[in-house]
Amino acid sequence: MRKDLEDSLFEQHEKILGQCDYRELCIGDGWFVLVDTLCLGLQHLTDSGAGPQVRALQVKQKFGELCFYAEGADYFQAGMIHMASLISMRTCEVCGSPGERVEQQDHWRTLCPTHTAGS
Ligand SMILES: [Zn+2]
Repeated sequence: MRKDLEDSLFEQHEKILGQCDYRELCIGDGWFVLVDTLCLGLQHLTDSGAGPQVRALQVKQKFGELCFYAEGADYFQAGMIHMASLISMRTCEVCGSPGERVEQQDHWRTLCPTHTAGS
């Protein structure tokens, strides 16, 4: 992920991402909005007293899917994280357009038709 996008996520969502194992999110730029929206939604619940504080341990792409490993989530928040992972498998990790999981050089990625052809 581009450094400025990554920095923006860490700054805006310090309470959620501040304790990640790595000061690096191993995902593509195309999932920025997805992760940003997930964190906004999770934090909104916490700040309005409707949920515990979620703390991400690691955020990465695995087999073309967003893996948002976190602790502290209640059942509802875990469902939000699960939904974000489902959406990630249909969202190009490069540009954010609709995409699907493809295998390239023994690695699974989620890509739109343009990035499948171009990479
Ligand atoms: Zn794309």
